[in-house]
Order: sequence, then structure tokens, then C-alpha cells
Amino acid sequence: MKIETIAIHAGNHADNNTGAVIQPITTSTTFIREQGEYPGGYIYSRASNPNRTSLENVLTKLEGGADAAAFSSGNAAGMAVFQSLKPGSHIIAPDDMYHGLRNLLKNVFAGILEFDFIDVNDPTILQDHIKPNTVLIWLETPSNPLLKITDIKQAVAIAKQHQLLVVCDNTFATPLCQQPLALGANLVMHSATKYFGGHSDIMGGALITADKNDWWQKIRQVQEMGGAIPSPQDCYMLVRSIKTLPYRMKGHVQNAQLLAEFLEKHPKVERVMYPGLATHPQHAIAAQQMQSFGGMLSFCVKGGADKAAKVVNALKLFTQATSLGGVESLIEHRAMIEGPDTQTPKNLLRVSVGLENIDDLIEDISLAINTI
Ligand SMILES: *Cc1c(COP(=O)(O)O)cnc(C)c1O
Repeated sequence: MKIETIAIHAGNHADNNTGAVIQPITTSTTFIREQGEYPGGYIYSRASNPNRTSLENVLTKLEGGADAAAFSSGNAAGMAVFQSLKPGSHIIAPDDMYHGLRNLLKNVFAGILEFDFIDVNDPTILQDHIKPNTVLIWLETPSNPLLKITDIKQAVAIAKQHQLLVVCDNTFATPLCQQPLALGANLVMHSATKYFGGHSDIMGGALITADKNDWWQKIRQVQEMGGAIPSPQDCYMLVRSIKTLPYRMKGHVQNAQLLAEFLEKHPKVERVMYPGLATHPQHAIAAQQMQSFGGMLSFCVKGGADKAAKVVNALKLFTQATSLGGVESLIEHRAMIEGPDTQTPKNLLRVSVGLENIDDLIEDISLAINTI
């Protein structure tokens, strides 16, 4: 089956009891037991729930994996990976790793795990940071907010030489634009809060594995015993939203490409970061490993933080807010959000390009930039 078909059918489970075409929400926390058996296959909703199973089924198929585990947020999914590792293990992560996960490592896992934040795109730097206790390389591509591209196959090849695991945060790309498991990654991570939910109204996270190995069993234990699970209602909402994900992504990608091309030509714009532009330094790698280039872009206006803030404040259609992946366009002045230790340029604006008509988006942004 092709991905549009998978998105609609792989997460649905018609109800045999009532004939309902769409799977009902099972809010029951507990399930009937008969003589030591559970005829429905469910015991207790922290361990598993029919709506979560359906969500995990569609996520598995979308990423071409062997199994998936759904979590209550993207960070909870990342946390489960970190908790699955032996204390004292060393992780290599990108120097521009999503700041929420970087802070999680630095604040919660300090003293439990070791970690280095480095330029994972440079094979020499990557090799140089592998230590005897290194177990895992974390990738995030395209990265947030600089839209840097990591050559997944190259990182996987280095990891394989040293028997390291590779996890790829695929939140920005979604399986419509990039499938890291097919490129050799062991695990894919998602913030389902973003494109999977798609309407800025659900928190969720997911891990999808290439193999049901011992490590995966450990991650399942963290999910079931730790209990950072999404509610049946949220699972239902995600399954519903995912049905339109392929078509939403087509719109996001198309609008992002057109907006990037417009901004690139604008005299008051210093540079545009979008992997779909031929001028992106890693456009060739992106074109090789991605099916399309996603709906996120960043751009630097000419001038400093004050000019960037002025543009954001002059916008009418773009909403100034963090997060991404919703049908509505969002913009944010990233350096302000990330705090003083950020490497993000002070004049950078990050845009989650929505599904509004592109002419309206360009008109709004054009008027705002012309105020500086
Ligand atoms: C939002 C985000 C996360 C964290 O997900 P939450 O659902 O907010 O916990 C992780 N990685 C990336 C790239 C994100 O954008």
C-alpha cells in the first residue's frame, strides 16, 4: 500500500459489535478477565488500550518499522530512549539538538548518562567523540531552527563500525518527507504534537523501531511501567488527524518552497534556510535522502534582534507562537525562546508554514518586512 492509503486505513479498526465504521474511543481503564484469560486481549489501559494500539499500528506502517510505542509527548518519547540505556552510557547528540531534549539531558540525566553535543555532520568530529562507553548517536534532520541536514546514511555507517545505535528525531520531516529506518536508523522519534496532530491541539510523542529486539522490549517496559502514555481520546484524535497527514504535508511543502523562494529574493532578507532551496549548503544531501523538503523554514532579516522583533510584531496573519506543524502559520523569534546560551542568530525568525493560501502569506510577510 502507498502512504496515503496507509494513513487512512492502518489506524482504523471498525467495531464488530456495533458495525461502527470508525473505531470508538475505549475509555475503560480495565478489561474483563475470564478464568485467567482476557478475551479482548487487553488487561489494563496503562499497559495497552485499543485506541493506542491503533495509533501504534498506523505509526509503524507510516515509518516502515516493526513496532511503535506512543507517548504523552515528544519529550516523553525521548525520555524513554534515555531511560532505556544503562547508567554511565555515553550519547552523542547534535549541537543544535531540539532545546527541550538537550535541556532534558542536561538537567535530568546529568550524573546518570554522559553526553556530548557536537557537529554530527562532520564525520571526523563524530569519529573523534566515540568513546568505549558510547552506545547511541542521536540525529535530528532537518534540525531546529537552522534547518541543517545530517547525512543519515553516513552517520549510520560510522555507527555500525562501532556497534552504536542510531535514533533519528523525524519531527520536522514526517514520514512523508523522510523515512530514517529505510536509511539504516534503528529508531525514529516524533513529537506527534506537531504535524501528526496538525491542528495545534494534541500533545503526543512516538518511537518507531526497525526491530523488535531486546532494546525495544526495554523501551516498551519504560512506556508501560513508567506510564507516560497518551489518553485514549488523544490516540483517537491522532489517528483521525493522521488520515489527512499526506495531503497536509503536500500543502505545507508547496507553501514552504514558494515562501522560501520569495524571501530569498527579498532585499531586506540576509539569508533563508530551507533544504528545498538550491542555495542550501546541504541541498544535495537533502535531495538524496528526502522525498520532499518539509514545511519549516528559517530566515535572517538584515539587522539585529530589534529588526527581527519588528517584523514579527508587524505580521497580521502569522501568529507569533512557539511549536509547529499546525494548519495555521506560526512564526517565532527563536533566540528569545531559547535563552542566553543559544547559538541561534539573533536576527533569525523560524516559520512553520501553514496551509493558508500562499498569496495571503506572502502579502502579509512582505508588508511586515517592508516596515524595517
Ligand atoms: C516539539 C519537538 C520535540 C518535543 O516534543 P513535545 O511534544 O513538545 O514534547 C522534540 N523534537 C522536536 C524536533 C520538536 O520540534
